Amino acid sequence: MLSVNDLYVQVEGKEILKGLTLQVKPGEVHAIMGPNGSGKSTLSHVLAGRSGYEVTGGSVSYQGKDLLELAAEERAREGIFLAFQYPVEIPGVSNLQFLRTSLNSIRKHRGEAELDAASFLRQARQLIGKVDLDPEFLKRGVNEGFSGGEKKRNEIFQMLMLEPKLALLDETDSGLDIDALQVVATGVNTLKREDRSVILVTHYQRLLKYIVPDYVHVLANGRIVKSGGKDLALELEEKGYGWLNIDDEATA
Ligand code: ADP
Ligand code: MG
Ligand code: MG
Repeated sequence: MLSVNDLYVQVEGKEILKGLTLQVKPGEVHAIMGPNGSGKSTLSHVLAGRSGYEVTGGSVSYQGKDLLELAAEERAREGIFLAFQYPVEIPGVSNLQFLRTSLNSIRKHRGEAELDAASFLRQARQLIGKVDLDPEFLKRGVNEGFSGGEKKRNEIFQMLMLEPKLALLDETDSGLDIDALQVVATGVNTLKREDRSVILVTHYQRLLKYIVPDYVHVLANGRIVKSGGKDLALELEEKGYGWLNIDDEATA
């Protein structure tokens, strides 16, 4: 699915990722944890193709393609979804219209037929229930007047509708309440399938009670410094990051 090899990334001339290597196979859920400022959001942004990041070394392959060659929109069409970064408001364009356009663009790219209106609506009604949002939200402008919690739910709903192959969830600094955590968990667990992968950036051990990751990685000082199974998250909660002897001012 995804192979990140010895990746170096700079932001405004400052080196943030310093030789990051990560392999994600289809069907796997990877949790990425680590001290604040270690480069977690940088990694998710670079994978999604956001501008402002300069790759100075290494490579990323996604489904056999050179990911770094693709523009952000192409990555989205190829099935990469980045959640919780820019919950944009699009007044005047309903959630439904927005999703239908996005979904059909993805389907067209895959060589699949457009979903007819009735099937699309049926699917939307079913999935919006999963995130505990009223179906009325389908008619409202994208994120228009949504509360923070509603935006989160709506993003998870969008994720479920778009059926990404690789979902990147970066909810670090966003302070999710327990209800929102559960919605995120339901979303990931609903999406999870043998041909789909999830990379979940989280500060919250709590979240990993609801989402059981196949792997947990610690990102520190721009690299993965430790990888393990789900128990690593428990260990981190108990002991913090200090025992890893991370040479990084951010952990001080
Ligand atoms: P994390 O998500 O792990 O907290 P980030 O990837 O957000 O870490 O940030 C890593 C480092 O890059 C931090 O030191 C941060 O200050 C710096 N950084 C991130 N974005 C920018 C930017 N646009 N300009 C300058 N420095 C940045
Ligand atoms: Mg941060
Ligand atoms: Mg971050």
